[in-house]
Amino acid sequence: MPKFVYDFIEGNRELTDLLGGKGANLAEMTRLGLPVPPGFTVTTVACRAYLAAGAPPAGMFDEVNRHLRGIEARLGKRLGDRHDPLLLAVRSGARYSMPGMMETVLDIGLTDTTVHGLAAQSGDDRFAWDSYRRLVQMFGRTVFGVPDELFTAELETVKRTAGVTADSALDADDLRALVEAYQKVFHQHTGRDFPQSPHEQLDLAIRAVFESWNAERAVLYRRQERIPAELGTAVNVMAMVFGNRGPDSGTGVAFTRDPATGARGVYGDYLANAQGEDVVSGVRNTVPLQELERIDPRSFHRLMTIMDTLEHHYRDLCDVEFTIERGTLWMLQTRVGKRTAEAAFVIAAQLVDEGVIDLDEALDRVTGAQLGQLMFPRFDPASAPTPLAVGVPAAPGAAVGRVVFDSEAAVAAAGRGERVILVRRETNPDDLPGMIAAAGILTSRGGKTSHAAVVARGMGRTCVCGAEALTVDTAAGQLTVADGTGAAPTVLHAGDLISIDGATGAVYAGAVPVHPSPVLRYIEGELAPEADPLVSAVHRLLGHADVVRRLAVRANADTAADAHRARAFGAAGIGLCRTEHMFLGDRRELVERLILAETDADREAALAALRPLQRQDFEALLAETDGQPVTIRLLDPPLHEFLPALDELTARVARAEALGEDPGHDGQLLAAVRRMHEANPMLGLRGVRLGLMVPGLFATQVRAIAEATVARLRAGGDPRPQIMVPLVGAVQELEAVRDQAEALLADFDGLPPIPVGTMIEVPRAALTASAIAEVADFFSFGTNDLTQLGWGFSRDDVEGVFFGRYLELGIFPVSPFESIDTAGIGRLVQIAVADARATRPDLEIGVCGEHGGDPDSVRFFHDAGFDYVSCSPYRVPLARLEAGRAAVRLAHRSDTR
Ligand code: ADP
Ligand code: MG
Ligand code: MG
Repeated sequence: MPKFVYDFIEGNRELTDLLGGKGANLAEMTRLGLPVPPGFTVTTVACRAYLAAGAPPAGMFDEVNRHLRGIEARLGKRLGDRHDPLLLAVRSGARYSMPGMMETVLDIGLTDTTVHGLAAQSGDDRFAWDSYRRLVQMFGRTVFGVPDELFTAELETVKRTAGVTADSALDADDLRALVEAYQKVFHQHTGRDFPQSPHEQLDLAIRAVFESWNAERAVLYRRQERIPAELGTAVNVMAMVFGNRGPDSGTGVAFTRDPATGARGVYGDYLANAQGEDVVSGVRNTVPLQELERIDPRSFHRLMTIMDTLEHHYRDLCDVEFTIERGTLWMLQTRVGKRTAEAAFVIAAQLVDEGVIDLDEALDRVTGAQLGQLMFPRFDPASAPTPLAVGVPAAPGAAVGRVVFDSEAAVAAAGRGERVILVRRETNPDDLPGMIAAAGILTSRGGKTSHAAVVARGMGRTCVCGAEALTVDTAAGQLTVADGTGAAPTVLHAGDLISIDGATGAVYAGAVPVHPSPVLRYIEGELAPEADPLVSAVHRLLGHADVVRRLAVRANADTAADAHRARAFGAAGIGLCRTEHMFLGDRRELVERLILAETDADREAALAALRPLQRQDFEALLAETDGQPVTIRLLDPPLHEFLPALDELTARVARAEALGEDPGHDGQLLAAVRRMHEANPMLGLRGVRLGLMVPGLFATQVRAIAEATVARLRAGGDPRPQIMVPLVGAVQELEAVRDQAEALLADFDGLPPIPVGTMIEVPRAALTASAIAEVADFFSFGTNDLTQLGWGFSRDDVEGVFFGRYLELGIFPVSPFESIDTAGIGRLVQIAVADARATRPDLEIGVCGEHGGDPDSVRFFHDAGFDYVSCSPYRVPLARLEAGRAAVRLAHRSDTR
């Protein structure tokens, strides 16, 4: 039979799976000799068994009782003793912290009898009845679901009768009356008396904590935080210590460093003469922890020493919960504390300076996602007013704009050059145009997997969702915010200014000033690394990542301006230059001529006119990237994408015909668009297929590349272009294009070797990689197309329609367009890499899909043996950091082997 109960002296911090975070850390503090009240933990295994069977596993309660007797022996008190009763705290504690999601019951063991014993033993009637009323309320709420309002109403009545405003001003008689009133509430709501057996109280409380794992809010929280549903919670049972025993008692929370900025110092809150739940529920005002030094210097210094011990032991920022009972300090909880992205960088660098961790470990403690957050502009916390509401931070950034309530209004306003925030109860696929037009998206419903959140993240729009304090009335064109105090609600109308913070979820009325990110300014070379502690931490950790990483990081850049930025951001070249923009703008007319060409001569004339323009583009790009590889992708999209849309042309031609005019050129275009229409353009005439179907198209591009290279060489530059063929599925396609390109390149004297390679983005290419590697100088995985084609869904159609549901159902934990699906698409990648390298061990392999800048995916590409990742310029720093983390992580792993 498994062991279901561990005494605090038996466990340790490694056992979080079994004992939950709280239990494992209580055990660790006990082992360190810190003052922790005695107690034990009922394991998550017991919880899972309980939830599966609806009853405690055999022997569990026997074990609980045996451990309980151990506590009784140690303290010389017994549960239920009428003279000197032991009181217990029963506390939930899962593997991952789920703040406020589950249940805790304090003061277990008080009954109509033992309350007198507690009063006599402590010599404090008031304290005994205060504890008892707390028990009836917490137990009623947690174990039997009695609504809290019923108790608070009684509390208000008793306070009114007594003529006091603060709970602490109630005397023993008032509190005794309150206990009686609470017991009536309990009886009315549950149909039974408040349990007078302390053992029954304990039994019911343990079961209630187990069951709280499946409470609705806990389920929702887990879904949002991607915490597996099957883990279960542990239950910690420990002796009570009392912060409500007078002015020399109290309770508080403390951090070893500022969790917002990472600064060293004393951070926390203290509340005299109170139990812990008073702090959390904000019933009374706390004082800053520094005050404790004046109130109780001995306990304060003891606490400082303990926090030092903890921080050295855990080698990281810790937070603690503590209680002081009549001048004696007790530790009730600790854990490695949550922190902001800024604090994560600052603390990691500080710990290196303090000799606590090395740079490798510091790098492991920060993430690319955090660095990404720090690169967004942000609201200045000093000038931000009190938020109107706080929702779920779903996509980062600080967005300010005018309120619009529907998609059309957003599109219209954006068309006038206004910045708008699209405010909806929730969004659906019809809102897509408005979401694209808006600077930010705000909803009152839904979490991190809602439509709004998924789509906003995909598009890089700032998004706050599920701000439930907001009432969105689209019809009336207004937004109402009740702050819960009963004060008049704030009302915003369409056109009013609003600000949303995608990093914190805060929503503000009006335009809050936005500050550029100091980290971005540093990366852009505008701030020196010494500028502030955050910038200096980023500088050091990013610098270390560059030293240790094996993956090179290139950027996706189509223009000289992008290439310039990419280089400044630390890119080692261009991994993807899309050539389609060279066919847009003032070149449309030439492209239309190319498409409409009826003779070879017409087509050749159009191509000949396009070539010098492209040569200039390539030359400008190569000028920004001297000495670095530049991977140029030959034209990829279907040609009809360069023509006006079908409905627009139809309307223009119909108008001309109605006026009795000759539609002329429009008529020709319309005919071409109709002829070229494809039901599935994504699967149609594009990529290499286009190159093989339109004579001279790829040849023109290859010539332009060669001419630009020659020009750069003459100017003393060091151009290193690579030619990349898109959408290859069969080696024969690549061979045909390659032969033609080589023949053309041979015409140019003094040209450096220009590698010709291919994208791997069609599943068939991945599966025949070994043959393709024979004729390719490099592979670049196009993971967007590989994902679309591998899953068989088109991104534009599916993301807004059913991804939210799929995420909710856990079909995938994160959109496969955001993070590479390692089990499926990743498998294709691994097969292709292994087969290709078997043919050509030195084949250069990279990725140029959006996954190249996704933190989790970067780790995957590192492990898969890639040479480089390529991503948008703004993601280059983040990819550098993640590539470094991937490298040190592997090193750690081999250490422990
Ligand atoms: P949460 O996980 O929601 O923080 P806890 O289990 O930490 O819930 O309990 C909430 C509060 O109850 C703690 O912050 C602490 O102040 C108080 N508490 C917990 N255990 C004890 C105890 N043994 N004696 C006195 N107070 C306790
Ligand atoms: Mg706690
Ligand atoms: Mg593609």
